[in-house]
Amino acid sequence: MILVTGGAGYIGSHVAVELMAQGDEVLILDNLCNSSRGALERIAQVTGRMPGFIYADIRNRRVLDTVFRDYPIDAVVHCAGLKAVGESVREPLRYYATNVGGSVTLCQAMADAGVMRLVFSSSATVYGDCTQMPIAETCPTGQPTNPYGQSKLMAEHVMRSMAASDPRWSVGLLRYFNPIGAHRSGQLGEMPSQTPNNLLPYLLQVANRERAVLRVFGTDYPTADGTGIRDYVHVLDLAEGHLRALDYLRQAPGVHVWNLGTGRGHSVLEVVSAFERVTGVTVPLSFESRRAGDVARCWADPSKAAQQLGWTARRDLECMLEDAWRWQCYLAAQVEAQGLFQLPNTGR
Ligand code: NAD
Ligand code: UDP
Repeated sequence: MILVTGGAGYIGSHVAVELMAQGDEVLILDNLCNSSRGALERIAQVTGRMPGFIYADIRNRRVLDTVFRDYPIDAVVHCAGLKAVGESVREPLRYYATNVGGSVTLCQAMADAGVMRLVFSSSATVYGDCTQMPIAETCPTGQPTNPYGQSKLMAEHVMRSMAASDPRWSVGLLRYFNPIGAHRSGQLGEMPSQTPNNLLPYLLQVANRERAVLRVFGTDYPTADGTGIRDYVHVLDLAEGHLRALDYLRQAPGVHVWNLGTGRGHSVLEVVSAFERVTGVTVPLSFESRRAGDVARCWADPSKAAQQLGWTARRDLECMLEDAWRWQCYLAAQVEAQGLFQLPNTGR
């Protein structure tokens, strides 16, 4: 059985689906602070099975001990965390408490229970303002410009130290580039609970006429069209990377770092025009100055994951956008028809 912390969230729910599709038993632990029980129902809709669920906080050591005692857990995929960059600047302590403190508590409970195989949701943000493209795992980690990025880097350090102290640990640090897209069924995807910060969820809401205009942050970057370049990776490809990492870690003690990206960068304007092409929907734009803390370019060298895990992102940008839009339309239809979706934080 695999414990997926944060499994009701965007990435964790897709990891849960992929694990269940290959026949694994999945137990989700989530405090629903940025998700809802509706996600569990959607996982069941897609897979035909309800995952196990524990409504709890990763910082609650007592609950974690009970979970490890009561369930035959072989490994943990640790996706639970807070991820809004702006919020992390306003509430740094909450971010460190959850992303660092919560990870420490989880690892302590795992060690005491003898569950020593861990896959962690890290981020390309740990590379800071790396100028060397593509970014390989050998690039030094930089100085993330916000508490969110710092908390991810600190959690990585925690896991490295603990694995160095006890050879029974097998830890995979997955540095995600820019996950977008949704499940092919159109029934599972990202559900932002606040004004989105990331490009894709914002673009989707503009396309859906929930917001008037997509602000393009920066048109004077040293890129072909002047807008920022990122490595967008389909969330299902990303989820598959977790399965490969879990397998690899069975035979590989220590800490392993893998970039999960496509190795291709796309500018903001390329994303917008690809979206308009695949959906036929026009996205009104306004051109703004650069957003503080943004880097001009960021894309992965994913060759280590290809060599060691046999993992390569298979889905292209068009597929990511098509799947994201299918989900957005499904969500809009559900909300309009039934007011069916529960808001995060309700715990119901
Ligand atoms: P998400 O907010 O959709 O999912 C995170 C889940 O964790 C939510 O369901 C939330 O309710 C849960 N959670 C938060 N704090 C918790 C706590 N204390 N106890 C239990 N559950 C808790 O976010 P996501 O996009 O699925 O991201 C998953 C992980 O991947 C996060 O750790 C994030 O930092 C990391 N990551 C995300 C991205 C991205 O662009 N989405 C990029 C790089 C890394
Ligand atoms: N971006 C934008 N408008 C938005 C959100 C993002 O132009 O409303 C740009 C941003 O400046 C960056 C790219 O889109 O160049 C990806 O931003 P996102 O926040 O999705 O990812 P990150 O910057 O964290 O890699």
